[in-house]
Amino acid sequence: MSGESHVMCPVHVNRHATFKCKQCGRPGCNLCVVASPMGRFCSEPCRDKFLAFAKKAEELAEPEIKRPKLLWLRGMVQRTLAILAVILGLVIAGTAFYIPGISQVAYWIRTFLGI
Ligand SMILES: [Zn+2]
Ligand SMILES: [Zn+2]
Repeated sequence: MSGESHVMCPVHVNRHATFKCKQCGRPGCNLCVVASPMGRFCSEPCRDKFLAFAKKAEELAEPEIKRPKLLWLRGMVQRTLAILAVILGLVIAGTAFYIPGISQVAYWIRTFLGI
């Protein structure tokens, strides 16, 4: 035998364990292995438990707490930039042309900004 493991399978006591269950950590041999794309498990309940956990973890990871915060911040920055652009546009328009009301506001904004 290859002797890659000194651990014996707890179910088939005369066989060497070839893997450790990804869910419960129990060793198992080629006869009791339950293989899945996510890894090897000692039993189907263990595999199902792990897959359910992995799915849940994926779902929980999706709406990260950081992401909405960043989106909110980005939205706020975009809104602020849009407002600034409008104000700048009004200031330029109010300075270039005489528009009743707006020119007064433009003058007030320019005084406020010191430009
Ligand atoms: Zn297991
Ligand atoms: Zn076994």
